[in-house]
Amino acid sequence: MAPISLTFPDGNARDYEAGITPAAVAEGISKSLSKKAISATVNGQHWDLAWPIDADAQIAIHTMADEEQANELVRHDLAHIMARAVQEIWPDTQVTIGPVIKDGWYYDFDRAEPFTPEDLGVIEKKMREIINKRDPVRTEVWERDVAIQYYKDRGEPYKVELIDAIPGDEPLRMYWHGDWQDLCRGPHLQHTGQVPGDAFKLMSIAGAYWRGDSDRAMLQRIYGVAFTGKEKLRAHLNMLEEAAKRDHRKLGREMDLFHMQEEAPGQIFWHPNGWTIYTELQDYMRRKQRKGGYVEVNTPQVVDRRLWEASGHWEKYQEHMFIVEVDEDHAREKAVNALKPMNCPCHVQVYNQGLKSYRDLPLRMAEFGSCNRYEPSGALHGIMRVRGFTQDDGHIFCREDQIEEETAIYIDYLTQIYKDLGFESFRVKFSDRPEARAGSDEIWDKAEEALLSATRAAGIEPELNPGEGAFYGPKLEFVLTDAIGRDWQCGTHQVDFVLPERLDATYIGADGAKHRPVMLHRACLGSFERFIGILIEEHAGKLPFWLAPRQVVVASIISDADDYVTKVVAALRAAGIRAEADIRNEKINYKVREHSVGKVPVILAVGAREVEERTVTVRRLGQKQTSVQPLDDLIGELSHDATPPDQR
Ligand SMILES: [Zn+2]
Ligand SMILES: [Zn+2]
Repeated sequence: MAPISLTFPDGNARDYEAGITPAAVAEGISKSLSKKAISATVNGQHWDLAWPIDADAQIAIHTMADEEQANELVRHDLAHIMARAVQEIWPDTQVTIGPVIKDGWYYDFDRAEPFTPEDLGVIEKKMREIINKRDPVRTEVWERDVAIQYYKDRGEPYKVELIDAIPGDEPLRMYWHGDWQDLCRGPHLQHTGQVPGDAFKLMSIAGAYWRGDSDRAMLQRIYGVAFTGKEKLRAHLNMLEEAAKRDHRKLGREMDLFHMQEEAPGQIFWHPNGWTIYTELQDYMRRKQRKGGYVEVNTPQVVDRRLWEASGHWEKYQEHMFIVEVDEDHAREKAVNALKPMNCPCHVQVYNQGLKSYRDLPLRMAEFGSCNRYEPSGALHGIMRVRGFTQDDGHIFCREDQIEEETAIYIDYLTQIYKDLGFESFRVKFSDRPEARAGSDEIWDKAEEALLSATRAAGIEPELNPGEGAFYGPKLEFVLTDAIGRDWQCGTHQVDFVLPERLDATYIGADGAKHRPVMLHRACLGSFERFIGILIEEHAGKLPFWLAPRQVVVASIISDADDYVTKVVAALRAAGIRAEADIRNEKINYKVREHSVGKVPVILAVGAREVEERTVTVRRLGQKQTSVQPLDDLIGELSHDATPPDQR
């Protein structure tokens, strides 16, 4: 065969026989690389060490140091190893599919008897035995009919069905981990011993329908997590433990913030404590908006389908809309309305009232827009993913030449808000033009350039999401990282050339002619509901003092102090501090414990001595020590912390 040329990451090229495998290439470089190698990337494709290369190519050999490839292979090999372990322990089990997912993998099994949590330990032990055997991983390409016959003979109908679903021109690849065989695209590691045996854990068992179809068999899914080293596994398990402690649903109960019930799925019943956080945050945002030059509007909840048809939502978004049919008196036909899933079309209606001139632009319009979206019940999650929510929504109507400046102003505005709310830094993702899009290339060039240069001018280098922009324009997304390293996409800033056209928004230019404004869709928090969920988890319930719903509880130690408690509460309230009395006939330790669980930041205990000296004994959340302070001094201190950051 003719020689081929392989180019390495350092730019050097070497000639090889066509059909050479990356394993042989690695061996030619060094013995140690050949041992350490786990896979290759060939012309951008993740490539098994055993797959031949037939033409000139770019090649990179990977080792465990290449985190991305190593994680994928380790998790993928573990899926096979787990399936083998399960079949070795329970030979009557049928195997189906086992993909890699974030942080790990799962595999779906068909077995009459349910797996128990105790089984997970047994399976893990067997998996470690397989890893310790260092069984070689082999691969072959099979003829379709041979593969089908093989799985029929073995009584594995799921695999037969999988093969039937693979397009006819695609080669069928088989992998062996030792003697155990699975249908798989690959790539895989060289041998089972390359999987770190101390860096994985089986996590849970769940039910899953075959092919996600509720008319098909119910299978048993086992989830695992895996990393390239045991420290990384430990860090991940710690993060999960920490996340469970911070879960806003648990803290929401303990702090008595809200509840949800079956009659209103995905809708929140806010309790006084939760609603206090909500309104504090909303008041803050309203002040920021005013200072930011926005006008606030409010638009209808129930809107006739004709507007949604004009905006395009009826066609593109209907499955997520709550439809409301109304029998209007005297109407010939039923009126079909929808609860608004977004505020944008309504804002254009406000804009369209009266003639606009170029001097009116930019027009920054904001609404605390209550929206309803039909989310599938499986996607709902506490107050983070709901069906009824309120966005801190806004639309900037501007001229094309104002996009960059408005973007810069917006980034500055958002930076201040995130900082005030305790997030010092954030990342920005930039999504540029998708394949299917509206508008000319020229206008896309300008809009993308405007978003990029405004972001860079703010000292932020955005991460590129190629082709992920909306069909109506490019966008920026703002991602916060919380205290335990999780990412939350909150803010968005989206250019839209299409909606003003569809809903016929215009302005009169300096030339006296009609022009289309550009619309910038933007939100900082995203929705109040989700953002409050993030704040609760970020702070593990210990919210900044100004947002804490109950800032101070004044608890009596003896009933003779009740009058003084009332006076202390009144003095705190007069200073603008949210204070409550606790004069129940309970022991002070009991009261302290209860309010600590409720995450009250300051508990004041008062007994005979405090009454006499006009002092309070102060216990701050999370601190063991208490201190005795004159009441007036304490009020001075607390009223500073109770003031929202923009008013200090
Ligand atoms: Zn595989
Ligand atoms: Zn919008």
